[in-house]
Amino acid sequence: MQVKLAYGRGMKEILLVEDDNNVGESLVEGLTQAGYAVNWLTTGQKALNAFRKKRPGLVVLDLGLPDMDGFQILEAFQQEDAQVPVLILSARSEVESRVQGLENGAVDYLVKPFAFPELLARIRLRLRGALPAEADLTLGSLHADCIRREVRLQGELLDLPPREYDFLVCLLRSKGQAVSREQIARDVWKSPQRMSSLDNLIDVYVSRLRERLQGEGAPMLRTLRGVGYRLEEK
Ligand code: CA
Repeated sequence: MQVKLAYGRGMKEILLVEDDNNVGESLVEGLTQAGYAVNWLTTGQKALNAFRKKRPGLVVLDLGLPDMDGFQILEAFQQEDAQVPVLILSARSEVESRVQGLENGAVDYLVKPFAFPELLARIRLRLRGALPAEADLTLGSLHADCIRREVRLQGELLDLPPREYDFLVCLLRSKGQAVSREQIARDVWKSPQRMSSLDNLIDVYVSRLRERLQGEGAPMLRTLRGVGYRLEEK
């Protein structure tokens, strides 16, 4: 068993629980390069001890571990401190497994093999979402106060139904970047996978948001064919 510690630029540490050496090593390398401090542990028990000793900013958890089932560990983390976001990495791609993970409190679920940039984007989103500084999001004349759940355009309050608010904030948190339909389904509808019934709903919400985002300095909701959407300055 090995323990590898790497320290980044004063950011909250990521607790990586992964028994596969190749995956572990490449994740430590990638995440360290991205500026994160990573504490890599290879068993559930060691991970739990580390979690109890010092709260990480986020946990990346592999489900298949030698000593404990990942869901047991997830449950233990939740009992210890449900505020710490847990992102599951797993070779188990079945819907039941994803649903179980999300229902048990994981904030995200990535199926192996995954693309590292996607993992990084999801980690950034979660770590950013946990910081109070990001309670205020601005793009052009659009401003969201995520504590009050209020959105203003040119200073005027937009009366958004909850789902439209969630959708807009999801896009705003990744402003200037592509947001996939899968990510929207997960973040806004809490759906572990993209479903065709959701595609239609997403289209409806996109046109509603476009109608609302009018006027000087309003950002543009751009369709990226085959990719998703991007909220950007006009
Ligand atoms: Ca494993």
